[in-house]
Amino acid sequence: MQLRGLERWISLLRLIAFPFVFAAVAFASYPPGWEPWAWVTTGAFFVGSCAFYLLARSNLGARHQFSQSLVAQIFDTVIVTSFVMVFAFERGLPVQQILYIDLAAACVRFGIIGGLILAAVSAPILAVFVDLRVNHLHQAYTWKLVAFQTGLEVLMALIVGWLVQRLAEEGSRAEARAEEAERLHQAEQKTVAELRRLSALRADFVSLVSHEVRTPMAAVIGSARTLQQRWPDLTNEQRDAFLALIADETDRLAALVGEVLDTSRIDSGTFSYTFGEVELAGLVNETVATAELARASVHITASVPPDLPIVLGDSARLRQVLTNLIDNAVKYSPEGAPVEVRAAAVNGHAMIEVVDTGSGIAAEDQRLIFEKFGRVRGTASKPGTGLGLYIARAIAEAHGGTLEVSSDPGHGSTFALTLPIRKDD
Ligand code: ADP
Repeated sequence: MQLRGLERWISLLRLIAFPFVFAAVAFASYPPGWEPWAWVTTGAFFVGSCAFYLLARSNLGARHQFSQSLVAQIFDTVIVTSFVMVFAFERGLPVQQILYIDLAAACVRFGIIGGLILAAVSAPILAVFVDLRVNHLHQAYTWKLVAFQTGLEVLMALIVGWLVQRLAEEGSRAEARAEEAERLHQAEQKTVAELRRLSALRADFVSLVSHEVRTPMAAVIGSARTLQQRWPDLTNEQRDAFLALIADETDRLAALVGEVLDTSRIDSGTFSYTFGEVELAGLVNETVATAELARASVHITASVPPDLPIVLGDSARLRQVLTNLIDNAVKYSPEGAPVEVRAAAVNGHAMIEVVDTGSGIAAEDQRLIFEKFGRVRGTASKPGTGLGLYIARAIAEAHGGTLEVSSDPGHGSTFALTLPIRKDD
């Protein structure tokens, strides 16, 4: 990129210099036979300048920057050398000093090395130049000019070359800093987006919880008041219905409070476990039976091999996970849809899968549902807090296991709880 910009700039400078060169060549008075050489050099300078100008702006120039700069440097040196020789006869004209410009270009292109190489190349050029001048002007040959200018050129190469390298270093440091800043900026944006998402989830949660609390409370208060005020007028069945409603709604409230408490304990690291040997087959069968008893209209099948290995775990917590998965499978499936619970031992792990044929979960929501308060928008009409799977996964992980979902949206979901089997089994 830097060499490319530089070549563009130098190619423009050549074109700007051309009219001055042309005027100098046109108005000089030459010894016999020298003028054609001057015009050939001017012509070559013009053609080369145009060619490099076009090349610097083409795609070809963009691709081979180093070779382009090298060829351009050789071209400049040849043209400058030719002009130095052509004007050697001009007494008092320090024409050899245009080699300094060539040297400066070499430093800018290739740093100290470029400058030193050019200083070395220009020493014999200067020697020939002095020889030509001696012949034309009949002076005595002197090495002073060659030594003096070459010495100056070496110094210039060291100073300008150092400056150029310093600038290049600064440039790449600034570039690295800009990249770092860009990276930090992107990371910051990601964090801000994540924080926004979490705060939106929390806001949803507040409105959800207030709704989740108010609805059962209203039902409980309403039923209790009705029972209190109209007890004598109510039939036994009506009283039973109100009492059942109160029991169900208080259960719902207790579950909600339990989930909120569990979550805060998980977050503060005080969620406790009582580990022991858990006979998984029995645990799965009992949980399924309890879940089925609670809902007459739901058909839950359990396929559990009797020789399912023993795992080390907290049976109450594991039951809580399984109950949550079965509750969800029922809740997010159409009325009466079947739910299947399968258990098996695979690759040193016990795996319990809860399979439903309900609404399913889109791939982009499958991370969200395991987050605190994470609920899929389409299922928001169902009661819930979005805490169940967060708690369930935390319990699975505390057992050294995993809880994952796979789903075919519209056709159902499979939640898989994997637990490590005890080593001696
Ligand atoms: P809750 O059910 O109280 O909302 P969960 O953490 O148990 O909270 O579930 C989080 C979300 O995951 C649910 O709101 C629902 O959108 C989605 N979900 C969970 N289980 C299923 C399932 N079996 N089928 C479809 N969606 C489900």
